[in-house]
Amino acid sequence: MPLLRCVRVNEADYILREVHEGICGNHSGGLALAQKILKQGYFWPTLTKDALLYVRKCDKCQRFATISRTTARTLTGETPFSMTYGSEAMRPVEIGIPSPRRIMFSEQTNDNLMKASLDLLFKKSDDSQTKLASY
Ligand SMILES: [Zn+2]
Repeated sequence: MPLLRCVRVNEADYILREVHEGICGNHSGGLALAQKILKQGYFWPTLTKDALLYVRKCDKCQRFATISRTTARTLTGETPFSMTYGSEAMRPVEIGIPSPRRIMFSEQTNDNLMKASLDLLFKKSDDSQTKLASY
């Protein structure tokens, strides 16, 4: 679990909206939405309750509630972006409200870590192939 940024009510509303229905949003269910927000580095005490309520109030989710909801499974545990570039892309919500990961970012430190982790890229690829084969 990364360091989490505690956010205020107005920031929480923005994060819920951006992660649920923003440019990278996929109208996931309430629990999945809460987990995504935690993974992206944000927290507030009523996060899960608010995420469940937000989805219940989402017009598109209610209109298409009878259609089976599926999300893309990550078989390898890695995103296509990270498999291609060896790092994660910045999520749109981090532009509006910087997460601790973005606040503490240092280009020099990042460059050094990227060079040091080049050897791990092949291991990462092998691990993904092994995980994929187990399905
Ligand atoms: Zn929705």
